Amino acid sequence: MERVYIGLGSNLAEPREQLRGALKALAAAPSSRLVAVSSLYASDPLGPPDQPRYNNAVAALDTLLAPLDLLDALQSIEKAQGRERKAERWGPRTLDLDILLFGDRLLDEPRLTVPHYHLHARAFVLYPLAEIAPQHLQLPDGRNLADLLAACSFEGLERLDEPL
Ligand code: ATP
Ligand code: MG
Ligand code: MG
Repeated sequence: MERVYIGLGSNLAEPREQLRGALKALAAAPSSRLVAVSSLYASDPLGPPDQPRYNNAVAALDTLLAPLDLLDALQSIEKAQGRERKAERWGPRTLDLDILLFGDRLLDEPRLTVPHYHLHARAFVLYPLAEIAPQHLQLPDGRNLADLLAACSFEGLERLDEPL
């Protein structure tokens, strides 16, 4: 089994329900076990500002799936929950499931870059990840989660008290 961290995001069609649906689907993914889920967060949109705020969370999954098979599974879940891919980058979406870390792997393939290329700059990824990752987590490229966190402002992010 390898430990994978998955970033979840949604800002359309009842975002919290979208995240809940995605967690159910992740728990049912083949050869995998959902082991932890962060708190629920709200965040300012990254792309065009004329879209609703996002709900975000991070989940930890232990899996026997190969990375591209997991990516296929995640994209099927996105599609099943109505994700439409449009030309506009970072536009509103019902569900985004990104692979943040996949065990100790460094992957640079056409369909898959791991660690996620923008992990270090995203408060809505780093803060929930830090809730469920080991305190001294080191990324496969040598960076430390704690250092990334210290360099990333919490601004624009809100930890919600309601359960996910
Ligand atoms: P961003 O990647 O900046 O968060 P996004 O999540 O909106 O943007 P998507 O439209 O969901 O981007 O995905 C675009 C492509 O990114 C996917 O088709 C997938 O092949 C590729 N991709 C590369 N690395 C990853 C990764 N670590 N996790 C998920 N998708 C990835
Ligand atoms: Mg994304
Ligand atoms: Mg994505």
